[in-house]
Formats: sequence, C-alpha cells, structure tokens
Amino acid sequence: TTRIERHHYDVVVIGAGGAGLRAAIEARLAGKKTAIISKSLFGKAHTVMAEGGAAAAMGNVNSRDSWQVHFRDTMRGGKFLNNFRMAELHAKESPQRIWELETYGALFDRTKDGRISQRNFGGHEYPRLAHVGDRTGLELIRTLQQKIVSLQQEDKRDHGSYDARIKVFSETTITELLLDGDRVAGAFGYYRESGEFVLFEAPAVVLATGGVGRSYKVTSNSWEYTGDGHALALRAGATLINMEFLQFHPTGMVWPPSVKGILVTESVRGDGGILKNSEGKRFMFDYVPDVFRKQYAETPEEADRWYDDPDNNRRPPELLPRDEVARAINSEVKAGRGTPAGGVYLDIASRLPAEEIRRRLPSMHHQFKGLADVDITKEPMEVGPTCHYVMGGVEVDPDSGAAYGAVRGLFAAGEVSGGMHGSNRLGGNSLSDLLVFGKRAGGHAATYVDQLTGRPRVAVAAVETAVETALAPLQRDTGENPYTLQQDLQAVMGDLVGIIRREAELADALVRLAELRERVAKVSASGGRRYNPGWHLALDLRNMLVVSECTAKAALERRESRGGHTREDFPTMDPQWRRVNLVCSLVGDTVRLERKPLPKMRSELIGLFDRAELAKYLTDEELTEFDALVA
Ligand code: FAD
Repeated sequence: TTRIERHHYDVVVIGAGGAGLRAAIEARLAGKKTAIISKSLFGKAHTVMAEGGAAAAMGNVNSRDSWQVHFRDTMRGGKFLNNFRMAELHAKESPQRIWELETYGALFDRTKDGRISQRNFGGHEYPRLAHVGDRTGLELIRTLQQKIVSLQQEDKRDHGSYDARIKVFSETTITELLLDGDRVAGAFGYYRESGEFVLFEAPAVVLATGGVGRSYKVTSNSWEYTGDGHALALRAGATLINMEFLQFHPTGMVWPPSVKGILVTESVRGDGGILKNSEGKRFMFDYVPDVFRKQYAETPEEADRWYDDPDNNRRPPELLPRDEVARAINSEVKAGRGTPAGGVYLDIASRLPAEEIRRRLPSMHHQFKGLADVDITKEPMEVGPTCHYVMGGVEVDPDSGAAYGAVRGLFAAGEVSGGMHGSNRLGGNSLSDLLVFGKRAGGHAATYVDQLTGRPRVAVAAVETAVETALAPLQRDTGENPYTLQQDLQAVMGDLVGIIRREAELADALVRLAELRERVAKVSASGGRRYNPGWHLALDLRNMLVVSECTAKAALERRESRGGHTREDFPTMDPQWRRVNLVCSLVGDTVRLERKPLPKMRSELIGLFDRAELAKYLTDEELTEFDALVA
C-alpha cells in the first residue's frame, strides 16, 4: 500500500496569496486550527507580483472619493455584470482592510501630510490605489506573513508549539477535494519535492488558488496558475460563473521572445506614460467608446493638464479600462501600425525626468534594463496585450464566500472566485478584493465549523481513487508528453479563444478541446515521484482542460461583446445579455452550461447612477422599473 501522511484541521486554506493568507488569519483568530497549503514556495504567489496598488476609497488624495464613487467605477468597469453585493461590500470595506494592514506593519507610500498616498489608475475616478512604489504586492504578502508569524509566536507561548493552531505547508499541491455526501471532508495532494502523498482531513476548505493564465500562450501568469481551484470546485459539485471573461492586460512585454507576456504595470500610464503607434501617433484618442466619452479628454492638451488639475480636465484615454486599451492596441497592430516585434510603444521617457521615473517605477526600470536592455528613462518600451486575469470563478454567496451548488463547507476568495468584477476587473481592485473577501471567507468557514453537529468523514475508497489518479501518468509509458499537450492547449486557447473571438473558431476550439481531453487522459510522465515537474504538469493538465472548456463554451454561448469577452460577429453590448450569468457545472465528465438571471441591484445602489448612464446598459423593461423607483 501507498504511504499517506495524515493531518487533521478545522479549516484548510488552499493557496497562500493575499486571499489565502487573509482567510487563514481570520480562521485562526476565530480559534480554528488552520492549515495553509501552497503549490509554490511560501511567499511566491501572484499577489507578490502586483505592482500598482490596492484600490480603496480612503479619500486621502482627493476628498471627494467615497465608497459610492468606488462602487460606481467598479460596476462601470465590469459593464454592470458584477455581482452588485460583492461590489458594494468591496467598496465599503476596502479602506478598513488597508488600515488594518498598517496595524500588521505595512508601510505604504505617504502624502506630504503623512497619510497613505493614493495613485491614479484606469477606470478609477479619483486617485485611489494605496501603494508602495511599484512593489505593493510584496508589501502586502510580507505583512500578512508577518502577521501569521506573530500568531505562531502567540501559539508557542500559549500551547508550546509554533504550529499548534496555524501551519504552512509549502510546495504542496492539492489534487482532489474529498467529500462525505455533499459535505467537504478533506483535501488530498502531494509534496512537490518528495512526491509523497498527504491527506488533510477538515470539514471546511477555502479555495484561494488564483488564476488560470497558463492555458494561454502569451500570459503574465507564472507556472502554477493552471486553474486548480476552479477545477477542484467543479469536481466537488460547485459551479463557476463568468468564465468567458478573461482580462488581457494591454501592456505585456513583447520583446525579447523569451520574456513575452511579462507584465508592464499600468502605473506607467497612471504616472503619465502614453501609447504611440509606429507612425508616432498617440492613438488612444481614436478609441474612446461612447459609454465613456464624457469622462475622457478629447485632445492631448486636455489629457496632459489632467495630471496636475484633475478637477477641471478629463482624464487621458490611456487610462480607459483595460479591455478597451487592449482592443485598441490589437487594432493598431492589425492595421499594420505596430512595432517590429508586434506591439506598440509605451513612452514614459519623454514625459518625466529620468530621476522621477527611477523613483516611481524602480521595478519597471530594472525589468527592462535586465530583460530587454532598454533604458526606460531614455527609450520607449514595446508592449502588447497579455492574458492576465480571469474574472470568472467559483460562484459564491457574496457575504460569506460559500460556494453555491451541491457542496457544503467549501469557500472561495480572491481570483478563483467569480462575480465581484463582472465582465472586467479594474486595476487595483484585486488586491483589495483579496483582503475583503479573504477575511470574509475565513471568518465564515470558521462559523460553518462551529455550527456542525458531527464531523464529515473521509472515505477510504475516495483516498484510493485519488492515489490511483495521481499515479496514473507515471504508470503509463505510451502516452504523450505533458509539455506537448500544454503547448497544444495554449495554442487552441490563444488562437481560437483569445482577445477577439468568432463563432466558427470557438466551435472549432471545442472540437479540439475534446480531442485534447482524450489525449490528456492518456498522458504519461517519465521518471519517478521525487521532484518531477513533468508529472506535476501531467496532473495540472486535466484542470487546465476542464476550465478551458468552460471558457470556450461560455464564449460561444454569449452572443455579445462586453468587457473581457469580444465577439467580432456580435460587436456590441446587448442589454438582454447583461441580465444573464452563464453558470458552468460538471455532470460526470461533461461541462454543462446554464443561464441564470443576475441578482437585481438594490434600489439605493441603482439610485447612485444617472438614468442616462443606465440607459447604456439596461433593457427597456429594467429602465421602466428604474423610473417607477425614482418617481
Ligand atoms: P494568488 O496570489 O495568485 O495565490 C494563489 C496561491 O494558490 C499560490 O500560493 C499558489 O501556489 C496556490 N495554489 C494554486 N493551485 C494550488 C494547488 N493545486 N494546491 C495548493 N496550492 C495551490 N492586482 C491588483 O489589484 N493590483 C496590481 O497592481 C496587480 N498587479 C499584478 C501584476 C502581475 C504581474 C500579476 C500576474 C497580477 C497582478 N494583479 C494585480 C492581480 C493580482 O495580483 C492577482 O489577481 C491576485 O494576487 C490573486 O491573489 P489570490 O490570493 O487570489 O491568489
């Protein structure tokens, strides 16, 4: 028989990014014995890579800011497809979560009068991103880790062991959730280094596994983002929403090829950087869509005045939401006005003194010097769209983060959850999302455990199946190489389910994904269980595949363009589609897609918008309801 290490916890948090750490802190503060599991090294998560900052309406730089303005911006950014309750909680609670982080020891950049400084970002009406230079995520992770260490020191004092009530298992990958009927009973996985198996028995699991970007050819995401949490949730009976919406960040590096996709922070534009095509034209003025026309400058002169006098000028079109900017760059390149490497120019060199660039954007300066031998204080950068963020994710109860569907005891927070960002996320809204909903999910997982009458039990047979599934790629020697399969999957998703989508290509993608599924079912990995990345990838592939199927199916179904979903054959937003969420579930091995009406916004929230603005998004029927409401 196979040796399996066993542990017992109250709450198991899968993922050690911002959402996972904040959830774990909350569960531990509620007295629960908590495990944090992370596929990568502790401290290495996407959260650590976040550059720009965390959005919170603290009003430190412009006192007109408030949660209501932040709520409106978030709903606009998501093109009104957001779960309004999540957007509301997020806007209301973000400032508290940022201030709380200071009590954990975070050191944000300051305003002249000593308050937390806030910077401009795409889609945010006022300067709103609390930041630490362009290394905000690092500070966030550092302080959350420090908080965990301080809790462990308390436990050592009170219980004699650092690990008594909160323990980190790093480089540990979870491959299965185990159920007792419709209740979560535990999580099964392996240590990446030894290949040994490990079982966590626990009545509550919080998924905080981040994104899915590794299914795409050009991506800002690193190796571990294979949609594991999304797939674990589906297989456990939970549902996913908004999976057709992926954010292609407008500015990834395009050269040299080895670093293609690596992110160039939006702060470059927030701090004054402009986009130009190969003819030297500042082209974004040609791409301001009607829904945003009122808020954006019409001339470069007005746009440039905005940086110093935002109250009397409109913002530059470089700061439109990401989906708009990404599509604009895509169009310029397609029209033959791209750079030699197939991007456009991003110029900060001619806009700010060299010293100022090095002070505000130290990581970007370093990144371009080191990777592309470009000095951004002297030369423009070459940039183009890169797959960055998945809006879609586990369908959750907005207040508690509890997964909907046929499973209890499962919670999700952060990028793996869906709803909060609708069809498009605003920059900076992720870091704040992690803190707000991480805390909520951790707290509600603890409450769920308190309310249980008996503990769910892990069935022996389920563990045996988990072991068999994990070992299968090592035991086949005729199957295909996992790296080839991953490349083929990335090609299908990048070429056929990418930034601009068409019916025939999406249908083709589904055929190819079905073929890939057969091939992945026979994947083989050579070598043994000790540190074997090929084996790990072989196991990740089935997750990438099922999640990609959800994306392709939903993208084919949604016949409109909205946020992170652009259909060339249905180029406009359709108010009827705004009322619909596409919900994915698994029946056996098959992805099922259902339409579900979006929850209705409460009257005091919808009342925050002008009728003229709502008319751009709502159906006539909804507008009539709105008129009755305000009458
Ligand atoms: P992550 O931080 O992605 O962490 C996921 C965790 O889950 C990791 O620990 C991983 O190892 C673990 N995991 C995954 N699968 C498994 C498994 N099977 N078993 C065990 N563990 C698993 N957002 C902003 O708001 N502002 C920004 O300025 C910003 N800049 C960004 C820059 C870059 C380069 C990138 C890539 C993203 C940026 N984002 C930004 C987005 C933001 O960083 C992410 O959306 C966010 O950090 C996600 O946090 P999370 O806690 O949900 O997951």
